[in-house]
Amino acid sequence: MNIILLGPPGAGKGTQARFLVEERGMTQLSTGDMLREAKDSGTEMGKIVADVMARGDLVTDEIVIGLIREKIAGGGSGFIFDGFPRTLAQADALGALMAETGQTLDAVIEMQVDDEVLVSRITARSTCGDCGEVYNDITKPIPADGKCSTCGGTTFKRRADDNAESLRTRLMAYYKQTSPLIGYYHAKGKLKSVDGLGEIDAVKAAIAGALG
Ligand code: AMP
Repeated sequence: MNIILLGPPGAGKGTQARFLVEERGMTQLSTGDMLREAKDSGTEMGKIVADVMARGDLVTDEIVIGLIREKIAGGGSGFIFDGFPRTLAQADALGALMAETGQTLDAVIEMQVDDEVLVSRITARSTCGDCGEVYNDITKPIPADGKCSTCGGTTFKRRADDNAESLRTRLMAYYKQTSPLIGYYHAKGKLKSVDGLGEIDAVKAAIAGALG
C-alpha cells in the first residue's frame, strides 16, 4: 500500500507517519527531512534550498520530484509520502512515477486541523536529535530526566523554520499551492479526510479506519 499524508504544517503528518512505519513496516518519504539533510550536510542543493526553506516558501518542483524519483526508482512499496506532493505539478509527476514503476497510489489521507492549533503546535514542538521522536512543550513534554522516551537520546532540536513569521508563509503556501490537491485527489476517488485535532491516539485510530 502506498499513501500520501496531506495537511498543513503542524497537522501531525510526521508523527502519524512514524506510527505507520513502526506498526505496518511502511517507508516514510519526507521531502522536508531530505531537504534538511541536504542543507545540514552542505551539498550544492542544500545551499540552494536553505534560504527558501528558512522563509517558508516551497522549493522548486524539479528539486523535490528529483528526490522522490531517486527514492522510488529502486522499487519497493509501502511508501508514505509525507509533505509531498505539495503542488499540482508534483502530484502529476508522482502519478507518472508510480505508473512507470508499476505501482499504485492507494489513498490520500487529508489531516484537517484549525490554523490556531497549528500555530501553537508548531511553536511548541521539538524532536529528538537521535531518533526524530516528536515532542511538544505542552501536550508531550521531553521527559523530566532529559532523556528521549524512545531511544534515550539527550539532544533535542527545534526547527529553524518553526517560528511565527516563517509559519505564516508556510500556511499561505499550503492554502495557495497545496490545498488544491484535496480536490484533485477527491476527483480521483483517493481522498479520505480525518480529523487531525484530537489526541494523537484518536487520530491514529481514524487513520487506521480510513486505511481499512
Ligand atoms: P516540511 O518538513 O514538510 O514542513 O518541509 C519543510 C520545508 O521544506 C518547506 O517549508 C519547504 O520549504 C520545503 N519542502 C518540503 N517538501 C516540499 C515539497 N514537496 N515541495 C516544495 N518544498 C518542499
